Amino acid sequence: MLKADIIQEAIQMVDLKGQYLKIKSDVDKAIQECIDTTAFINGPQVSAFATKLQQYLDVEKVVTCGNGTDALQIALMTLGLEPGDEVIVPAFTYVATAEVIGLLRLTPVMVEVNPQTFTVDPAEIEKAITPKTKAIVPVHIYGQCADMDAIMAIAEKHGLHVIEDTAQAIGAEYIHADGSRSKAGTIGTFGCTSFFPSKNLGCYGDGGAMFTNDPALAEKAHMIANHGQKKRYYHTYIGCNSRLDTIQAAVLGVKLDYLDDYNEARNKAANFYDALLADVEGLILPYRNPSSTHVFHQYTMRVKEGRRDELQAYLKSNGIPSMIYYPVPLHQQEAFKGVGRRIGTLELTEQLCSDILSLPMHTELTDEVQLTISNTIKDFFKR
Ligand SMILES: *Cc1c(COP(=O)(O)O)cnc(C)c1O
Repeated sequence: MLKADIIQEAIQMVDLKGQYLKIKSDVDKAIQECIDTTAFINGPQVSAFATKLQQYLDVEKVVTCGNGTDALQIALMTLGLEPGDEVIVPAFTYVATAEVIGLLRLTPVMVEVNPQTFTVDPAEIEKAITPKTKAIVPVHIYGQCADMDAIMAIAEKHGLHVIEDTAQAIGAEYIHADGSRSKAGTIGTFGCTSFFPSKNLGCYGDGGAMFTNDPALAEKAHMIANHGQKKRYYHTYIGCNSRLDTIQAAVLGVKLDYLDDYNEARNKAANFYDALLADVEGLILPYRNPSSTHVFHQYTMRVKEGRRDELQAYLKSNGIPSMIYYPVPLHQQEAFKGVGRRIGTLELTEQLCSDILSLPMHTELTDEVQLTISNTIKDFFKR
């Protein structure tokens, strides 16, 4: 077994440097072009990237913006929801999903997730619907799609919008009951994603985008992201200022060509973890939903018998990072006290928050590093 002291480089959750070095000359050239032309705001790279992503996703329209949180906010603003309208969200997600709902004075209605897939439970969505319900925001958490056929059927039945939070799942494919496939984020009214550096398609700063098959909504979203104007200084809507930088668009234009390879590398690493950890009794390894491909934004396991924190501390003392995404469910966050409404007891979500542990996952993971990690985990359970 490798000893911690002979590992050359510290093990990282994410290796952005290693990924960059492999495409350095193309990225450097693309960035230099932006600087040479000084088209820092809305340079031609922005619309070129939007078109390229639109083709990759096979969706009608891509509207770029400043970050993934803004994408969610602008999508909600575009749908014209009114204060007090209810929006159903899983209680198990990153805060951004629900934060924008609260920010717009809408009511986040928090529901339980499926403890196998970690995605929102459609049966719980149905229970949460009231006459005030206007939208559902499923989250394709860790890189696997929520149960979109069921969610779309509920949305259709009740006349609701669906905003897919696909910040962790760009490139994943949902497999419909009839066997046809759709890219994550292209099924609902809107899909919203983030290009935060550590996301599966990450830029070198902040960035985000919305996807939709409705050109009128795309146009309105584009205007809202740009001070509510189509013609400069003539403002139709109250909007915001949320742009994808030209430099970030240039980086993304290069990196989009590698997205499928990156997602494949993540799958290969996930499969190797699966094999290495298969017979560790104390763990529940990530479940593969047959109705979605998985792009493993995170490799997230559950640790049995309340030993998660103990395992994390043991890994840390052996130089191995791990993360808890996320330790506190939405309904227990201070910020949401008195803001949201929860459906049922949300025990499953609470249990997940105390069981989950994410291992290092990125495009540059080596077998050696994964062996070190899995051997350390096995040592922990043998003690
Ligand atoms: C990263 C993330 C966001 C927010 O994206 P930012 O670009 O950081 O604003 C929203 N939802 C989920 C699920 C995320 O993982």
